[in-house]
Amino acid sequence: MDIDVEEAVKLLLNGEVKIHELDDLLGDSNLATEARRKFIEKLVKAKFDNISFYSLDFNKLVGRNIENPIGVVQVPLGIAGPLKIHGEYAKGDFYIPLCTTEGALVASVNRGCRAITLSGEARPLILRDYMTRAPLFKTPSIFHARKLVDWVKANFNRIVETAESTTRHGKLLDFSPYIVGNYVFLRFKFSTGDAMGMNMVTIAVDEVRKLIEREVPYANCLSLSGNLCVDKKPSALNLIEGRGKTVVCEAIVKRRVVKDVLKTSPENIVKLNWGKNYVGSALAGSLGFNAHFANIIAAIFLATGQDLAQVVESSMGFTVAEVLENGDLYISVTLPSLEVGTVGGGTRLPAQSEALSIIGCKGGSTPPGLKVKKFAEVVASAVLAGELSLLAALASHRLANAHKRFGRGIKS
Ligand code: NAP
Repeated sequence: MDIDVEEAVKLLLNGEVKIHELDDLLGDSNLATEARRKFIEKLVKAKFDNISFYSLDFNKLVGRNIENPIGVVQVPLGIAGPLKIHGEYAKGDFYIPLCTTEGALVASVNRGCRAITLSGEARPLILRDYMTRAPLFKTPSIFHARKLVDWVKANFNRIVETAESTTRHGKLLDFSPYIVGNYVFLRFKFSTGDAMGMNMVTIAVDEVRKLIEREVPYANCLSLSGNLCVDKKPSALNLIEGRGKTVVCEAIVKRRVVKDVLKTSPENIVKLNWGKNYVGSALAGSLGFNAHFANIIAAIFLATGQDLAQVVESSMGFTVAEVLENGDLYISVTLPSLEVGTVGGGTRLPAQSEALSIIGCKGGSTPPGLKVKKFAEVVASAVLAGELSLLAALASHRLANAHKRFGRGIKS
């Protein structure tokens, strides 16, 4: 059928085609995007002057990053910094890209960057690095369940070969078996180069599933994901065992800087960290003991094309604060489950890729993995800056004023 956008809109309004059929029908995803948008505009009797304003080429995104697009929603991008970082992979002064609509967030992270940089540097360290997928198998009995785990242990080399036949960068490192009654969960751990790795390991584990089902007739795979991965859900397992990168980051903030820049004292920050982040979080039954890791993680994830739903587990973690003998403040953050990539997923979108280049983290590296580790160190350092600044704002009772000024535009 040879039709134009206006005819496509009429077909949609008459219910003669479905919204997902337009890309093929028009032979162009940019035209299909326009037709779907005009259809919705007519349906809700509105004009989308902003959703229709963009530089994206949907022909490059449909089939990889989005289905049924109608346009874009713009989110402001700010920068905080410079933040001096001395990591194993990230070294130097960095400006952090942050996408948000929450007034005061960028200003607050910026203040934390200033306090850390005036005092010295943020020192991040990556402790663990693997992406997981945990398929669920059902067996006839608890004895078969144990036999399946024994088979996987005995045939692990074949499993590695099968998994790695699907990818150049994915390496199967290890697996942890969990048996519950006659159910078996196999939590496979991969290194995934510069990719966050979720698609990569899903494709690899699907081949492993086929191998197991072929060779072990009593093993019935119920699902490639048995919720023990654990993807996009808060969990003690990720908090303890880690997923993605486990990163710690510390800084010593000089007493003078805490007073002049953060308008409080090391003692007040330590007292608040204990009462709020530990007693308060324990009382709330929180998975993680921090003030607002999610604020910084979400803003960086949005700016750089990470998988936004993984803000859930990437934001779990701990803040530790102490007063040193010389009166300076020691502060650290621990992020057990930071899931990030510099290739794949949304990182290939033009604006997101430009945002990654602000911190020198665009694309892959040789050997693979160096770029994403640098990125993970920058993210953890930015989280430290944000955590420090919010704790200071709360300790000095300046949080509400900051939000009046930056969130409501009220000068006080
Ligand atoms: P991907 O784009 O699916 O895979 C990464 C690709 O980059 C692979 O084709 C890989 O090739 C290639 N590559 C090139 N240079 C690389 C390097 N230096 N390091 C690593 N890979 C390199 O991305 P992904 O990280 O695996 O998955 C991310 C996507 O998964 C996101 O869009 C996310 O939303 C989505 N996701 C999927 C699931 C799921 O269950 N499938 C769950 C959550 C999220 P080789 O494979 O040949 O090495």
